[in-house]
Amino acid sequence: MNAVIADRKSRKFRDIENFDLNESNQYFLLPFRFHRVTADKEIIVNEVGDYLILPNGTFEKIVKRQINKQIDAELYGDLIANFFISEEAIPPLIDVLATRYRTKKLFLNYFTGLHIFVISLRCEHTCHYCQVSRVTENKDMFDMSISNIDKGIDIMFKSPNSHLTMEFQGGEALLAFDNIKYAVEKAERIANELGKGLTKVICTNLAIVTEEILEYCKEHKILISTSLDGPQYVHDKNRHKPHASSYELAVKGIELSRKVLGHDQVSALMTTTKLSLDYPIEIVDEYFNLGFQGIFLRNISPYGFALKNDKSKYETEKFLSFYKKALDRILEYNFNGNYFTEDLARIFLTKILTPFNVGFVDLQSPAGLINGVIVFNYDGAVYATDESRMLAEEQDFTFKLGTLNDKYNDLFFGKKAQEISQIWANEGLTGCSECAFQQYCGADPVHNHATQGDMYGYRPTSDFCQKNMEIIRYLIELMESDVRIKKIFERWAKTATH
Ligand code: SF4
Repeated sequence: MNAVIADRKSRKFRDIENFDLNESNQYFLLPFRFHRVTADKEIIVNEVGDYLILPNGTFEKIVKRQINKQIDAELYGDLIANFFISEEAIPPLIDVLATRYRTKKLFLNYFTGLHIFVISLRCEHTCHYCQVSRVTENKDMFDMSISNIDKGIDIMFKSPNSHLTMEFQGGEALLAFDNIKYAVEKAERIANELGKGLTKVICTNLAIVTEEILEYCKEHKILISTSLDGPQYVHDKNRHKPHASSYELAVKGIELSRKVLGHDQVSALMTTTKLSLDYPIEIVDEYFNLGFQGIFLRNISPYGFALKNDKSKYETEKFLSFYKKALDRILEYNFNGNYFTEDLARIFLTKILTPFNVGFVDLQSPAGLINGVIVFNYDGAVYATDESRMLAEEQDFTFKLGTLNDKYNDLFFGKKAQEISQIWANEGLTGCSECAFQQYCGADPVHNHATQGDMYGYRPTSDFCQKNMEIIRYLIELMESDVRIKKIFERWAKTATH
């Protein structure tokens, strides 16, 4: 009993001056986070990604209840209207906030859409950053068998998603074109029977594409996604093809594909290697001059095979400096009246400037693996993402969900999927949970595992975090510094949602 009294005595109320009893400052705080954007500006972001840019120190005043309804009327009104504060413990328009939140997480309604079929591991290129290249004629060993294709298609159509995407990857997928034809025709028949939408994509370096292959793609509405790393002196060094120029074949293939399929049926992706870092302007110019409407500036996945190769490794700061120079060039094109986007920026800007989200696997929370994408490997293994199967090539099977012989529920809701799902939402990760950019960013357990040896990850030394945080901050800084840039970014975000 004495101990309790002593304890009660030691708990003191603070003095009266610690409590602001001025009625005009009596507001409730709703959940939001803040981040320093520039030397004199900070951003506050609420649970649905709405933001306000304010002079430094305003965040502290808000949480200390020092914003006065009369004196700071405009700011006070903005804070109420954007759900940062409320005059009632539960804001009267809480349902509006809930609807906005549901809209942001709408991608979860559909479940797995993208099904990647690694149709062959064979390839005639020897790109230095790729671990899957194999030059071999041994089809039995490195092509997906018809039986595995059948099983993959079966599993794909068990997805509740009403629109499925079937993507054929390699190696070089076109080396197994007969198997692609079989898979496409079978999947089309089932999609018709079930009334599901079906998008088909072939990822190819285009080196062995022919008019005949493209005519088939036209007939079956198959999209082409290719690789282009920049001008010839960059592309050919990154993407080596014995006894030929990969660049010349890719450009010829792009032209032919556009001629047969139509201009917008062909897209290209670049990978930034150590060599690419010296050519931000030239790489952007190459995409612009070839008639693309944008470019996706992708850093190399810093793990697996790529890490072993000195031509691929670089620090995140170097990528960020490359990225900013390339983005400046892209903005120049836009200032001159062209519509030309950077697609990583476009994903972030859609999240920052619109009520919508983007179903981009690497920048979702919960993460896009399993509930957005699944990979069926040529040998019948099932992986959570494309990067997961790359880890498996290095004998790391952490993200192997099972095989094509397993039942749907065991793959998608089994022990492994449950284990991953514990840490696939950035809302629950230390560092991310208090980050202002949480709604714009995502969680990537595969990247965390591969780079830090632990799916949960550690944000202060995470290159994923460093890259995303700086790019988001930089985009906001650019918008704040120049109204022309804000207009360009608004246009990019708007077109991404259509
Ligand atoms: S990864 Fe970094 S930038 Fe992204 S939400 Fe987490 S802490 Fe923020």
